[in-house]
Amino acid sequence: MRFEISKVLDAIEGRVCTDPSLARAVLDLAEIIRYQDIDGGRPASLLRLGMVIDALSRELEEDSVQVYAIVHRALLSDADLTSNERMVVRRWADDGLVEVLDNPGDRMLEVADLLGLPVLSRVRFDGLRGRFPWLVERPGRVVAPVPGAGGPVFIAHVGGGHVPVAGKRSPTEAKLLARQWRCPESGCALFGSGGGGGAFADLAGGADRSPAAQPPPSLRNGVPTCPRHGARLGDAGPRPRTEVLAVRVGGLVRRRFVLSEEQPVVAGRAPEQEGGIMLGQWLNDEARRWISRGHVRFELRVGEVIVTDVSTNGSGIRPAGSMAEADRIALTPQQSRVLGENDMIELYPGVQIGRAEELPTGAPFTPTSVMAEAPTMAMRLPRP
Ligand SMILES: [Zn+2]
Repeated sequence: MRFEISKVLDAIEGRVCTDPSLARAVLDLAEIIRYQDIDGGRPASLLRLGMVIDALSRELEEDSVQVYAIVHRALLSDADLTSNERMVVRRWADDGLVEVLDNPGDRMLEVADLLGLPVLSRVRFDGLRGRFPWLVERPGRVVAPVPGAGGPVFIAHVGGGHVPVAGKRSPTEAKLLARQWRCPESGCALFGSGGGGGAFADLAGGADRSPAAQPPPSLRNGVPTCPRHGARLGDAGPRPRTEVLAVRVGGLVRRRFVLSEEQPVVAGRAPEQEGGIMLGQWLNDEARRWISRGHVRFELRVGEVIVTDVSTNGSGIRPAGSMAEADRIALTPQQSRVLGENDMIELYPGVQIGRAEELPTGAPFTPTSVMAEAPTMAMRLPRP
């Protein structure tokens, strides 16, 4: 039982991030874990985060969605969590996967504001409408996770009941995200020297974090500030450019990934390269046989996505996402091509990768649950 829960928490770990390119919603972990009405269980449970992430995945009709979690420091020693759960949250904090704050204040809304993300919360934030006018203009951006028949569902405090897709980033944020930032505090997990590390970055596991994945700085009186340490951030030069690409299998977005100028990314059945995008778990036997371990390599150069076939069998380009066979352009092994704005590369029929925002929605959707390993007890839902 304990072991299974650990596995679920490991799976949830892959769904929390502070990467501005990948987070799809922002939430306050201390609030989410206390939604006792969702499962009728313990006063606090980290598994509820998984349930809310699953609900978001259903809502957005996309697998592997990630959330930006703000964590009150007190949660790291919250006696309502199990020691295992506390250990897991501490690990997330050390690795910069979540933002740990002594006093979160309105940081959740600030992140939502800067990144244009929806907020998953039952709080109404009436007192903050002056500072964040979008609370009035787009009230539907705050949605409350509430119990539903098959797990949590989202209800807007005002207006419709759907999670809005991320809106536009604010102009301020565009400026902030054009630079990389450094916190003077040693070992800062969010704005450390290696991007995510500190003196023990190699051990902490945050060392391989790209500066392109740095969270948005907090703005205090217009000054970029570390939300964790309250220290003024130093400008560490331009941030590497990025493109967000999405993997679509069988018409559904299975995961997104960030391609930065710093290093190429290989996608395939089971790439050996570090940071490779593994597709094997979504492939049927035929696709598995066709697609090489490393099948295509993506590079970002001067704003262009360059795709190179590194497979045995080759692939194809779907110009502007066209599914017509006549439009498909073959890409033979070792051949490279610039991926046009709306192009997708097809590794095998139905297995495509392209820019995230260009992917049309697909067939009826059943997301892979992050809670797949959860023991039935943890998943028990209250009777309607
Ligand atoms: Zn810091």
